[in-house]
Amino acid sequence: MHELPVIEKIVDIILTTAQKHQINEIRAVNLEIGELSHLEEEWMQHYFDYLSKDTIAQGAKLKIDKIQAKMRCSHCQNEFEAYSGSSVKKNCLFCGSTELKLISGNEYYIKNLEAI
Ligand SMILES: [Zn+2]
Repeated sequence: MHELPVIEKIVDIILTTAQKHQINEIRAVNLEIGELSHLEEEWMQHYFDYLSKDTIAQGAKLKIDKIQAKMRCSHCQNEFEAYSGSSVKKNCLFCGSTELKLISGNEYYIKNLEAI
């Protein structure tokens, strides 16, 4: 259940932002989530509803976009998608090196708010 602390943080950020911009009601929250973050959309909305109750974000919809996991080759510095199907790539697409570093896929961002 690691969605809960993530959603706590998100609710905290959007309420602070709303206050700063004198927003009265938040309709939707657009999020980008790395495909490796293992956040379940259903649980995220569930926790969001719970944590945003009686705030200006009550009833807001989470709209979630997935970010593809990417790797960078330490040898040739090229970047490429980390997965082919469900298995993670072990060699660089360009030079075949195995010195690969995951550079995205675990992160999450609040892209923007839809508000009144
Ligand atoms: Zn390479």
